[in-house]
Amino acid sequence: METYDVVLIGAGHNSLVCAAYLLKVGYSVLLLEKNSIPGGAATTEELMPDEAPGFKFNPCAIDHIFIHLGPVVQELELNKYGLEYLFCDPVVFCPHPDGKYFLAHRSVEKTCAEIARFSPRDAQKYAEFAEFWQRVVGMLIPIFNAPPKSVVDMLGNYDLNKLNDVFSLIGSSDKTLDLIRTMFTSPMDLINEYFDSEFLKAPLARLAAELSTPPSQKNMAVGSIMMTLRHNPGMARPRGGTGALSKALVRCVQDLGGIIRTEQDVQKVLVDEGRAVGVRLANGKEYRAKDGVISSLDAQRLFLKLVDPKDVDAANPELRERVDRRITNHNEAILKIDCALSEPPRFIHHQHRDENMMGAVLIADSVAQVELAHTDPNIGRIPLEDPSMYAVVPTIRDPSMAPEGKHTLWIEYFVPYQIAGAEGTGLNGTGWTEELKNKVADRVLAKFADYAPNVSSSIIARHIESPPELERRIGVTKGNYYHLDMTFDQMMFFRPLPELANYKTPIEGLFLTGAGTHPGGSISGLPGRNCARVFLQTQRPLVQALTDAGEMIKSTASSLFNLS
Ligand SMILES: Cc1cc2nc3c(=O)[nH]c(=O)nc-3n(C[C@H](O)[C@H](O)[C@H](O)COP(=O)(O)OP(=O)(O)OC[C@H]3O[C@@H](n4cnc5c(N)ncnc54)[C@H](O)[C@@H]3O)c2cc1C
Repeated sequence: METYDVVLIGAGHNSLVCAAYLLKVGYSVLLLEKNSIPGGAATTEELMPDEAPGFKFNPCAIDHIFIHLGPVVQELELNKYGLEYLFCDPVVFCPHPDGKYFLAHRSVEKTCAEIARFSPRDAQKYAEFAEFWQRVVGMLIPIFNAPPKSVVDMLGNYDLNKLNDVFSLIGSSDKTLDLIRTMFTSPMDLINEYFDSEFLKAPLARLAAELSTPPSQKNMAVGSIMMTLRHNPGMARPRGGTGALSKALVRCVQDLGGIIRTEQDVQKVLVDEGRAVGVRLANGKEYRAKDGVISSLDAQRLFLKLVDPKDVDAANPELRERVDRRITNHNEAILKIDCALSEPPRFIHHQHRDENMMGAVLIADSVAQVELAHTDPNIGRIPLEDPSMYAVVPTIRDPSMAPEGKHTLWIEYFVPYQIAGAEGTGLNGTGWTEELKNKVADRVLAKFADYAPNVSSSIIARHIESPPELERRIGVTKGNYYHLDMTFDQMMFFRPLPELANYKTPIEGLFLTGAGTHPGGSISGLPGRNCARVFLQTQRPLVQALTDAGEMIKSTASSLFNLS
């Protein structure tokens, strides 16, 4: 039987990142991926080779932001393996029904100048809003870049700039209380506190709600970072599509001696005397792991499907019930629409310029519309009356993704996973059928055409994926694009549960990484990097503690040096 030091389940980008760090320090590593290509929710594929040959699509992630908050790209030298990031500027365009539009640039000043054309007061407030959230981001970066329960790691990440951000936010007791109060509010509360104009409030609400909760959700004000991050560090896409990141990671892993096997459906984690010792595939083949098994599948899939109940119960008799019932995975999911276009959409009512579509194109007419875009799916309704959406025309920034002169359209539209009243019908009993997904796509595209009428006649071919289809393709329960909800109660040392939050599990040698662990979903690689650190801490506690302490001293010294 083949034996490796570490076996990783799944080869999404977080697994690949985790594997690369372990390979760098000499472990032998095997990654087992159920699909025919690695990457998970970070791939680029020719989805319609017959109807639209030469058009490349990102079936899932497109806009990369969080990966620029950490050192993964630099530490793994991914540029050497072919990764090139193309930053977007402008970053957001949101046309409004009254003819105004929100156009956000990478620069806050330029964005304020755009807002000032319609509302000088809101422009001034926007500068304050962006500045405040930038300082919050400065405070959060060190936390994102460390295992949530590893205080030494976390402290080591604070340089003087970041400490300045912290003290500017919590420098006195009233400031600290006010910061906490802000975090307890909702994105909607904050947006109303700062701004007057709907053309600005609606896109900010839409982006804040990308954490998958409605803008009115209390305790989720932190969603406001989703706009500020588009200014700094900025929003980028790998040249050639999101899959170029996964391809670079694959090359890196293979160059370091790692083995990646595709079409390997892991069905069981093998546990012997309370220790994870390997995995078994659906076809019966087994692989042994000497030092550990790392799962990039979330805790619900791991503990409820892949580990024998008696092995889980032996490690922690309450765990299965807590994983099953305490972790939340709401009903909101994504209907994904990809189109091959003969020409770029034209926003004829909004002083059309192709470059306005460089970043995200938001259809968000009002905060109320965005609210319904999230609350309806949660109770099983498709918010069809007036669709809000996140769209991208990737070929504006990267023409290599389509034949010359042609374009693509990427649309993310929130829908329920389980349609109310349709239980037991359609795919997986969710109510989703071919007919329904096409009907919904027709409505979404018609709404898009209200703004860019030429889109209707320029569609060469389209590919629609419903939530249960996404669930089947990459295995995510209920098609949850973040594996588990990204609500405050499931972030940091609560993700996915306090007892599982530091990438370790009660089964010795079994580790968790991926979007279902801190700091969560999105393209960041940070769950992978943090998990590798914890794995190494358990393997060689003294060496790793000294390395961490050394890094802390180095970081403090370098920030002092930079300041002087
Ligand atoms: C439609 C959509 C749009 C998105 N847009 C963005 C975006 O623009 N920007 C952004 O930052 N994030 C976006 N996200 C979120 C982001 O893509 C994910 O959070 C991230 O890719 C998760 O990476 P991961 O490596 O943790 O997990 P995954 O990518 O889910 O990888 C897990 C891997 O495990 C494999 N697997 C599952 N079960 C098994 C098994 N039993 N045996 C073997 N292998 C298995 C899967 O096939 C998969 O390859 C989007 C997600 C979706 C779905």
